[in-house]
Amino acid sequence: MDAIVTRASQEALDAYRRQSHLSTPSEAVSSYDIATGMIRIDLRGGRLPGNGGAELEDLQGFISNGVLESARPILPAAGTKFYYNGKDFEDQYPDDAKGDRESRAERQNDGPVVVSAGHGWYYHHGFRDWRAQRDPSNGIIEDEITPGYADELRQWLIERSQVAAVRVRSGALDPHDRSGQAWWRMGGRYSLEVSHPDQPDLWNSLPTSTHPLRERDEDIRSRPHYANLLNARALFHLHTNAGSPLASGARAYVAEGRPEDYRLASRVCAT
Ligand SMILES: [Zn+2]
Repeated sequence: MDAIVTRASQEALDAYRRQSHLSTPSEAVSSYDIATGMIRIDLRGGRLPGNGGAELEDLQGFISNGVLESARPILPAAGTKFYYNGKDFEDQYPDDAKGDRESRAERQNDGPVVVSAGHGWYYHHGFRDWRAQRDPSNGIIEDEITPGYADELRQWLIERSQVAAVRVRSGALDPHDRSGQAWWRMGGRYSLEVSHPDQPDLWNSLPTSTHPLRERDEDIRSRPHYANLLNARALFHLHTNAGSPLASGARAYVAEGRPEDYRLASRVCAT
């Protein structure tokens, strides 16, 4: 099993490297932990992304999808956990881990359910242009199809579960000034900039960063920040994992140590 998952993780990493990303490790070594059902993936050598933001999420998502697919016919895994030259996330990215810990604190959750459509257009400070977060895959740009699913899920939550439900990204058809893109295409960071101009912590959470992907990182961070502001009782991030055209079904990711989240996620995947 370890040989199979290591081969799959290395193949996924090699495919990712061929897309010429800024920082990539050179090796991915994986093992299956029978006790937890998790696949442990150690990224070694080369160059790791400098922070625990969008770039790392892309890299890990890509490898994770490849590994989980390869394991599925033999022994379906519960998920993946990443290490960095043997270190865990907390040791490798202490600043980002701090934010994680804070957002896991117990809260009074009596607010609405927040439905967050993955990705959306953002300003790339390296290329100096506005672009989607995802490249086309099987003829589809993920940034453009998650809003439709988010709308549908929001309706179902209101009608079937009788809860208040809100979205993060705008659904408007008129153009966003600076990019000229229709609002519904824009990342959540930009709609929050307009709706909450006095709360830049929500949408400009990395004011000192000089990273070319900083607005994209801020977009990702803006979703849980907004949910926390509303005391959301739940937050759904909707994605359509690009994979082979044969892939089907649903996959849910939850944070470790959250049994209630795990129960909800299991129900999502059982349908
Ligand atoms: Zn996605």
